[in-house]
Amino acid sequence: MAVGFLYTCSGCDKRFKVYVPKQKLFRNITGETVDWERIDRLDEEEGGVDEVKRQANFTQSSFVDIRGGERLQCPKCDHEVDLMRHFRTVMTGLATTPMN
Ligand SMILES: [Zn+2]
Repeated sequence: MAVGFLYTCSGCDKRFKVYVPKQKLFRNITGETVDWERIDRLDEEEGGVDEVKRQANFTQSSFVDIRGGERLQCPKCDHEVDLMRHFRTVMTGLATTPMN
């Protein structure tokens, strides 16, 4: 199953649903022992990205595909965030660390 992360803009509370390939999240944790590229390809072939898009619509969030760029500028308030840094921080349990 593809990974869709929820990101809430810290400037205006606008919500985004972000598709993140697993290799971006896990490769530096597991090293080369897991073929994440293959896993991502399978997810994408199975319609995993469309699934994240559907979740975005369902939760009234804006869909973002992180493969198009890791920096997101909020279309509503212009706040900028480095999404990968944000999600890695969340995943490693350091969510209280300031992002910028
Ligand atoms: Zn915003």
